[in-house]
Amino acid sequence: MVSQISIVGAGIGGLSAALALQHFGYRVRVFEQARELREVGAGVVISPNAMHALNFLGVGERIASEAGPAGLFFARHFETGEVLKTRANDYVETFGAAYHQVHRADLQAALASAVLRNDPDCVRLGYSFEQLTQDSERVVATFSNGETVTSDALIGCDGGTSKVRACVFGDEVVNYTGQVAFRALVPMADVPPGLSEHPFAMYVGARRYFLHYPLRHRTIMNVIAVGREPDWQEEGWRIPAATEEFVKLYGDLYPPALQLIRAIAPGTLFKWGLRDREPLAQYTKGRVSTLGDAAHPMTPFLGQGACLAIEDAMVLGRAFAAADGFQQAFALYENTRKQRANGVQLASRRQGDEIQGATARGPNPGTDAVSHGLYAYNPVTVPLTPADPFDSARQ
Ligand SMILES: Cc1cc2nc3c(=O)[nH]c(=O)nc-3n(C[C@H](O)[C@H](O)[C@H](O)COP(=O)(O)OP(=O)(O)OC[C@H]3O[C@@H](n4cnc5c(N)ncnc54)[C@H](O)[C@@H]3O)c2cc1C
Repeated sequence: MVSQISIVGAGIGGLSAALALQHFGYRVRVFEQARELREVGAGVVISPNAMHALNFLGVGERIASEAGPAGLFFARHFETGEVLKTRANDYVETFGAAYHQVHRADLQAALASAVLRNDPDCVRLGYSFEQLTQDSERVVATFSNGETVTSDALIGCDGGTSKVRACVFGDEVVNYTGQVAFRALVPMADVPPGLSEHPFAMYVGARRYFLHYPLRHRTIMNVIAVGREPDWQEEGWRIPAATEEFVKLYGDLYPPALQLIRAIAPGTLFKWGLRDREPLAQYTKGRVSTLGDAAHPMTPFLGQGACLAIEDAMVLGRAFAAADGFQQAFALYENTRKQRANGVQLASRRQGDEIQGATARGPNPGTDAVSHGLYAYNPVTVPLTPADPFDSARQ
């Protein structure tokens, strides 16, 4: 098969990249290992920086209508529930775009249907990327179904454990962070009344943090918690867990929030071991670039992994539109994105230390994303940064 631009992975980053490239007139093919497009049952925060791009690409309205408005945010003491900090929902006034808490399946469906409306043949399912070769003429990708795909350029959007990244840049050091995350969705009808009234709250405590926020017009509560647990190491978002295990690690949590843990239905709790990787020195080599978690996998403490993937996609589309050929486009994309995305990767690590009390200050709400200036970034208008003419590493 011959494709001008190939994307590996139909997650949030891959679909956003496809949509952005289509917007600027490019025909792309997205190769996804799964046999159907199905997201994990979890929420994802889409902050104003990413909403700018989704609005520009025509999917913002659908996302807003499915998510419903975000409420007032409370940072609370882990054990007592004492309010340490609040934040009003003033994002549109402050940043020019909204802040939404979205079911991941709704985001994926909105992106996928926009991509397929533009080109019904765009997404190929059951294509698990194995390896690639490239030369001055082309890049050839091989998939486990035996197919090979020849393209002018290829973008690895295959997530934190990216095989595309490994093929291009080799094996890397991967550190278990000593942190275990839990996630679950709870119907709002089962949530203790004190919490459902103010459903957006984070609890900061020694070695652990606990977060809940509403999805789909407050009909579902999304629960996510991360705690330090040095012995446990599996990676992946779909490892089943038992409620008792969660309760045991969070037994001293503010009682109404602990009640929320107890309300998680059997079979709906999942866990995974967080990995941390060092920032990449470069995202691109020759005809192959990387985007989203494949380029800058990060811990979840600033809730920005998906948002940065969407920012990347918007800038990539603009770079292709502005450039003369893929080489210049990748250079513009990487130069515009690397400092910001690698910076957030490191800031997210520091935020974890703050909110879990690993610094001298003890547990605290941390320097939030607003203070980091994260939400003030607009990928639709940020100036594209030209390549350094002396940088030959990407070639
Ligand atoms: C529970 C949870 C909550 C989160 N909350 C937030 C949040 O609130 N806000 C936020 O911004 N971020 C959040 N994140 C992080 C965010 O989800 C990720 O940063 C984001 O999904 C990255 O998108 P991606 O497209 O780069 O990778 P992924 O979403 O991982 O998508 C990768 C895609 O590539 C496919 N793939 C993988 N390998 C291959 C292969 N070999 N061949 C073909 N296809 C392949 C996968 O099947 C998948 O479809 C959260 C993450 C988790 C787990």
